[in-house]
Amino acid sequence: MTATQLDLAGMPARLFSATPSRLSTWLDCPRRYKFVYVDRPPPAKGPPWAHNSVGASVHAALAAWWSLPVQRRTPVSAGALVRSKWIGLGFRDDEQALQWRERAVEMVSAYAERLDPYDEPVGVERTVAMRTPTLAFSGRIDRLDRRGNELVVVDYKTGRHVLTTDDARGSLALALYAAAAARTLRTRCLAVELHHLPTGRVVRWEHTEATLDRQLGRAHDIAAEAAAAPARIATGEDVDAVYPPRAGPMCGWCDFAAHCAEGRAAAAPRASWAGLAEDIAPLDDED
Ligand code: SF4
Repeated sequence: MTATQLDLAGMPARLFSATPSRLSTWLDCPRRYKFVYVDRPPPAKGPPWAHNSVGASVHAALAAWWSLPVQRRTPVSAGALVRSKWIGLGFRDDEQALQWRERAVEMVSAYAERLDPYDEPVGVERTVAMRTPTLAFSGRIDRLDRRGNELVVVDYKTGRHVLTTDDARGSLALALYAAAAARTLRTRCLAVELHHLPTGRVVRWEHTEATLDRQLGRAHDIAAEAAAAPARIATGEDVDAVYPPRAGPMCGWCDFAAHCAEGRAAAAPRASWAGLAEDIAPLDDED
């Protein structure tokens, strides 16, 4: 509990609103966190990223596919949905956007080929939430399946980063989704899966109650640091000490690099379509 919260003796402490991206932003770079969650109005972001456009289009198409009548859930309709949901932002030009749209059509059609349209998910783009004494967590799960008596968290990935079991095991977001899904739906939920659409690979990890608790503890630690920041500013601490830049190669991908001298010194800004290039592993789509 922060000093400010203690000062408000008798008042219930305000819960920290946590989402996976809020927690990971603090962890990655507190200055970026300030730009996104503290500064109002927030500073202007850079241009949209093409790889995020691909990810968002694919996610939207798959969500819409599950809402079709079951007889219409075919690979062809999945491809058609990619075209109708396509976001053409961030690409070098129209030709590149079209090329990637058709790649995404192929990718999603091939993925739909392996889905059983009758195997109705428990949730699609499902919001789950949970509260702890200090945290109000909420997040949106790409897909929540029921397998036997248990729920399974499914997260779609469209980037070229080759996924391993460690990605599923170490993901704070997936663990929090599982814990929140279990509480929201009062059903056991320990398994998390990353479905990598470009390769069709599924990476699965089965948590235990203990590993979920550990991840929840991690979330509390991150949230406690972030929640303490405004009180530190109020007591006169330097803003760069409270929200320090964490400059490194990833700064080339930062939406706020134009406002951050340290970040610009650390890495040259990437072109908005650079995450699609063949010779580098692009960032994964955002959650
Ligand atoms: S450019 Fe780098 S250091 Fe600056 S805010 Fe972005 S991620 Fe943080």
